[in-house]
Amino acid sequence: MEVDWLIHNALVLTLEPGSAPIPQGYVAVKGRQIAGVGQLASQEGVEERGTTAPGCSLAGEGACPTSPGLPFPPPPPARHLLDAQGALVMPGLVNTHAHAAMVWFRGLADDLPLQPWLQDFIFPAEAGWLDANRVYWGTLLAAAEMIKGGTTTVADSYFYESECRRALAQAGLRTVTAQGVVDFPAPGIPDPRDNLKVAAAFVESGADFDPDLITSTIFCHAPYTCGPETLQQAKAITRRRGLPWFIHLAETRQEVEELQQQQGLTPGVHLDRLGLLDELTVAVHGVWLPPEDLELLARRGVKVSHCPESNLKLAAGVAPIPELLALGVRVGLGTDGAASNNDLDLMGEMSLAARLHKVWQRDPTVLPAAQTVALATREGAGVLGLADKTVTLTPGKDADLLVLDLNQAHLTPLFDPYSHLVYAARAADVRHVMVAGRWLLRDGELITLNWPEIAGRIRLESRDLAAFCRNLRSL
Ligand SMILES: [Zn+2]
Repeated sequence: MEVDWLIHNALVLTLEPGSAPIPQGYVAVKGRQIAGVGQLASQEGVEERGTTAPGCSLAGEGACPTSPGLPFPPPPPARHLLDAQGALVMPGLVNTHAHAAMVWFRGLADDLPLQPWLQDFIFPAEAGWLDANRVYWGTLLAAAEMIKGGTTTVADSYFYESECRRALAQAGLRTVTAQGVVDFPAPGIPDPRDNLKVAAAFVESGADFDPDLITSTIFCHAPYTCGPETLQQAKAITRRRGLPWFIHLAETRQEVEELQQQQGLTPGVHLDRLGLLDELTVAVHGVWLPPEDLELLARRGVKVSHCPESNLKLAAGVAPIPELLALGVRVGLGTDGAASNNDLDLMGEMSLAARLHKVWQRDPTVLPAAQTVALATREGAGVLGLADKTVTLTPGKDADLLVLDLNQAHLTPLFDPYSHLVYAARAADVRHVMVAGRWLLRDGELITLNWPEIAGRIRLESRDLAAFCRNLRSL
């Protein structure tokens, strides 16, 4: 069988549970799927258009008849080769929570308490400056940044989400895209009575997109911005269709204390009484969940998106991630929006998560490197309900992968690739990115997006945003 691409000579991490790194390995891609993973024999050559080791099938073969000592079959003939000598090939990274278009607000207002940050900058800019077209262009910028950093899947939640979806589809990223819902006027929804109508229409129009790449669903902003009826109706729309449903939960101590004072309930019990906790619910943040809520989330099969950089920058706190993992809760990593991060870099998120929980628990064995890499990949795919489809390099799964250049001073020497990925690698080390068999990045260059056009547009219009904010301050 001839495959389309053979990426060879690489150190391959399949990230299948219990798998070991494969030195001098190869990954074969046919159409949109992984066709095979294996190891080259010592100095085995590969050539384009099918001249290598005929007679070996790929997946499922134990030993190869032409190389009986090898645990893997030899590489298949391929139409195209990518020699990845000195590089690492692994599944792409999964961002379980982002507000992509908020890249417009990157560095616009930093080092402020949460409420002035929101009330004086973010909310006025969203209400008075952002529009559908700017959401589209902001999301293109975010997509460029994510692809360059090795992200292949993103769960995006915002307003004007149909524009976000259009941009992410254009970029070729795998996406779980969720229309935002709040019970007050929001960008694109001046009358909050329309919020669920807009969300339902957004979910319905998801049928126009490739269902294997794009999932369209709903994000309720938080229990303190969405009333019980709104939460229940939104959840009903997504539950009927078996879709993940997102909500910010227990991000700040203040919101948890207010809920306790007003209703005498913890956030988890509040949502549980409304029937909202199940295996399709993704709780974002969970910083201030009390121990009884952690057990409740575990019992209901709720998933958690952990966004440590955002939590630290806004001084929200440190989420009880080791405790959730010990209870068997599935956890993925997220960047949150670039206004509170200030980038969409999952390499940085891995590095921070692993170090943060060590110091917080005063235990350097907490969140070891291999587990942290799993949170940013396989576990993240599980949080989004995509584990059967992608994010291990397994024959039959979609080929979502990155190629990272190990030939760097800061990655030399190499003893443990998981260690390097978490503690030393940078987003800029990513050289190639593929989603569903399609290259999105080659040699560090974007393939599906026009970077000069995006950068020019954003730089020009950001002057207008700066002027808008100057006017706000002079009011
Ligand atoms: Zn968020």
